[in-house]
Amino acid sequence: MATCAVVGINWGDEGKGRMVDLLAADCGAVVRYQGGSNAGHTVINQYGKFALNLLPSGIFTEGVINVLGNGTVIDLEHLCGEIQKLRAAGVKITGENLKISDRAILVFPFHKAQDALEEARLKDAKYGSTKRGIGPVYGDKYLKKGIMAGELLLPEYLKAHLQGVLEWKNLTIQNVYGEKPYELNDMLAWAETFGAPLKEHICDTGKVLHEAHRAGKKILFEAQLGALRDIDFGIYPYTSSSSPLAAYAPIGSGAPDMKVDSVVGVVKAYSSCVGEGPFVAEWFGEDADALREAGGEYGAATGRPRRVGPFDLVATRYGVRVQGATELALTKLDVLSYMEKIPVCVAYELNSKRTDEFPITPMLSAAKPIVEYMEGWNCDISSVREFKDLPKAAREYVLFLEKELCCPIPYVSVGASRNDIILR
Ligand code: GDP
Ligand code: MG
Repeated sequence: MATCAVVGINWGDEGKGRMVDLLAADCGAVVRYQGGSNAGHTVINQYGKFALNLLPSGIFTEGVINVLGNGTVIDLEHLCGEIQKLRAAGVKITGENLKISDRAILVFPFHKAQDALEEARLKDAKYGSTKRGIGPVYGDKYLKKGIMAGELLLPEYLKAHLQGVLEWKNLTIQNVYGEKPYELNDMLAWAETFGAPLKEHICDTGKVLHEAHRAGKKILFEAQLGALRDIDFGIYPYTSSSSPLAAYAPIGSGAPDMKVDSVVGVVKAYSSCVGEGPFVAEWFGEDADALREAGGEYGAATGRPRRVGPFDLVATRYGVRVQGATELALTKLDVLSYMEKIPVCVAYELNSKRTDEFPITPMLSAAKPIVEYMEGWNCDISSVREFKDLPKAAREYVLFLEKELCCPIPYVSVGASRNDIILR
């Protein structure tokens, strides 16, 4: 049966969560395959409004197995809190519908501390980290100093392993940052307190996915963050520390032999970017304030005001390419309804030359946007459910993007709730 990845094409916060919540209905499993609790996937449905940090956005749909894959990094305390919040809202979460890979790497309090200490050390040159320990824990993973979720089921092994890791980590905490060392007993107690309620969820999730796949169920891979934050192809070093690309989904999910049949790239009708790094089409001042307010552009995980600007064809074409998107979901079209004219960044100017290439970060920082304008529609479109019922200018905007991006746009969303969407 089919597999599908729902991925971000831009800088993140495109509306992946709302698309996964919608598309989960005909899936057997939804898998988060990378990232940690730094995600903020907003879902609005019959249970209320949620900003999911770690839990896959299929968690609301009955019959769906939700998986945190081996490519994710898990803060046990954060996950316990998130599960509690959802249960309080009436969402059913059991050992059956939530599975945690025994190979996922755990985020400890010392990772979060190190993240904040390094941002503080960098001062103005900071990366704009969410300070949830994600960079340090992925660093440790590749230095082979990570602790796997499955070790929670092996207390003696965990104790010895954590002791060795702590000895090493404390060298950095004490000697680089001049802070107090972390104690083994405190970390073991923390792991027991927040690990115990999660033990029933920990298993070989690759096996779970294979069984679902063999039984003819559709597997949906849910990316965290957008293509331009990818560790390899994003605006390095202002990236995340893992790969939110569709090509990584089978690996980070635990099914490296599965291929991704369709890739739904989620694209916002304008640009937004949270955190640091070059953002060529960025607006400032009143124009930016108006768009930020219209779109409610404040981080779902952190509340940080997002940087905003017009749709960026150069960055988006690049995002479509590196994601291998087979179709697109255009979100937040309704937000542009207040504009008389719709701005689009159609190319960059770099070294006095026009280009539509998306270069590496130092060159990107020197690029200037070339902006053209399309007709606005200037009326409320949030209750439209058929493409033909959109005002002509809104239809033309969608068709223009489809043509320029060389990718079909079967989904156009005009509101934040599950069914506020036009299916073409
Ligand atoms: P994600 O991280 O990609 O899942 O996206 P976020 O949840 O961080 O940000 C998307 C924001 O836009 C959330 O506040 C959503 O509720 C909201 N949203 C999603 N689609 C639409 C839409 O079509 N219209 C409007 N107005 N808001 C939307
Ligand atoms: Mg988000």
